[in-house]
Amino acid sequence: MNNDPLLLGALQAVATASALTRAVQSQRDEVAKHTKDDRSPVTVADYAAQAIISMILHEQCNNPADRLIVGEEQADDLRGDCHAPIRAAVVQIVQQWRPQASEEDVMQAIDACNHDGTGEAYWALDPIDGTKGFLRGQQYAIALGRVKRGTVVLGVLGCPNLPIDSSITPAEPDPLGCGSLYAASLGQGSWEYPGADPLETPLRINCPPWSEGKPVRTCASVEAGHSNRSGTDDLLDRIGVNAEPVRLDSQAKYAVLARGQADAYLRLPTSKAYVEKIWDHAAGSLVASEAGAIVTDATGAPLDFGQGARLSANRGVIAAASGLHERLIDASQALGLANT
Ligand code: AMP
Ligand code: MG
Repeated sequence: MNNDPLLLGALQAVATASALTRAVQSQRDEVAKHTKDDRSPVTVADYAAQAIISMILHEQCNNPADRLIVGEEQADDLRGDCHAPIRAAVVQIVQQWRPQASEEDVMQAIDACNHDGTGEAYWALDPIDGTKGFLRGQQYAIALGRVKRGTVVLGVLGCPNLPIDSSITPAEPDPLGCGSLYAASLGQGSWEYPGADPLETPLRINCPPWSEGKPVRTCASVEAGHSNRSGTDDLLDRIGVNAEPVRLDSQAKYAVLARGQADAYLRLPTSKAYVEKIWDHAAGSLVASEAGAIVTDATGAPLDFGQGARLSANRGVIAAASGLHERLIDASQALGLANT
């Protein structure tokens, strides 16, 4: 793995946020009781992670142009008296890492992630991807990708609940409580950090090519509304697969593909109205493609991260091992699944 200071800063940011969100997830019943809101644990973890990553990138990136962040969350939604208990909980989590941070520091850090995804280069940040998985105690990811001229050049993916041992089903939380951490740099491969520790020497991961006659293992969203399930069944039928996808939340699906535990991640569009967001794919897509997988939309077109905050030139995502990807795209085109 290279020593690009931007990559090292991104790794530090994602690893720090992963540790704090794991603590929030393990105490989610108490957080919900305190704020009298069942969804508050994920809201608190989301804002706290965005604030921490924003602060670390601000400190690590010497050039102000390197600090532009397209983040999922807006601090406006946290202001106002009715949000005071959640705001206090967010500040308390950030202060576990940085005791001297004030409420205003935290709000400003969240606000600083309001770049619109135009211009030469920016970060795309999903502080908690897979919010439903977080609330269920299952998979979620902290995803930070760097986009340059429409292409992802760096990707860091923290999966605090994903077992590093790929012989364990990825749908279940890590029995060791350690999780997984991945980084990729364009042209330089995809890497896994032992113990999810960014200071350890990373190991290169690979998505081996698929060849005729091998079983096809797929993964997809848990949430039925996030991909076209009947279309996915039709697609798999057409290429002769009769196994259900493994279901897990978040960009952990890209990591599972990247390390060769699945042969494809299928995200067929559900409607013309929904356009995928850059922060849901930037980090994960590079981790998968640098490991040797092919990542495109459901028509076979490359993902274009230079269209603003959304992948408005693309329809859904098909990511798969080489050898299999072309067959999936052919079947998707024949069934008209990109036009749903
Ligand atoms: P997953 O964990 O695969 O279910 O994906 C989670 C992401 O799905 C969230 O971060 C949302 O941004 C995104 N999402 C929300 N609604 C939709 C939708 N209708 N189709 C596809 N993705 C969606
Ligand atoms: Mg997301």
